[in-house]
Amino acid sequence: MSLSVQSEEPARLVSVRLLGSNDAPSPPTEVPVVVKSEAEWLAQLGAARFRILRSSGTDAPFCGTLFDNKMQGIYLCAGCQLPLFASEAKFHSGTGWPSFFQPFAKENVFERRDASHGMIRIEVLCTRCDGHLGHIFPDGPEPTRLRFCLNSEALIFLEAGAEPPAAAAAK
Ligand SMILES: [Zn+2]
Repeated sequence: MSLSVQSEEPARLVSVRLLGSNDAPSPPTEVPVVVKSEAEWLAQLGAARFRILRSSGTDAPFCGTLFDNKMQGIYLCAGCQLPLFASEAKFHSGTGWPSFFQPFAKENVFERRDASHGMIRIEVLCTRCDGHLGHIFPDGPEPTRLRFCLNSEALIFLEAGAEPPAAAAAK
């Protein structure tokens, strides 16, 4: 007899790219979306990460742990460990937030219009868990001229060569 609880509806699938060999993006891979209750997210993330990822908060500038990180590696979603940004696309923006000119893979993030705080901005979110990551501005460097302005609390840094968590790696 199985005691496992089956959800009534199968999880929606999204196409993303995971970490392949040498930390390169894998071919597009279908994965189930990560859906949790507010209480489950709070228990997993803790208050600081929950405020950013699940309540669209913003780190104070220059206070995050990753804005000045210059090590080689991959930045994973702190909610679901999806690879989101690579150190090769990180640049010094002077803003005090970790800044990238492109995502690890375009499939791994999505955009949403954000009209909060009396501004029209483009919010960027994680494809797999819908976590709020930060905003995109059109003042970045070549080749994209985009600036993905992120919150450190939304990210986990995986140093190059380190063993990735199972949720980040292609099988
Ligand atoms: Zn995520």
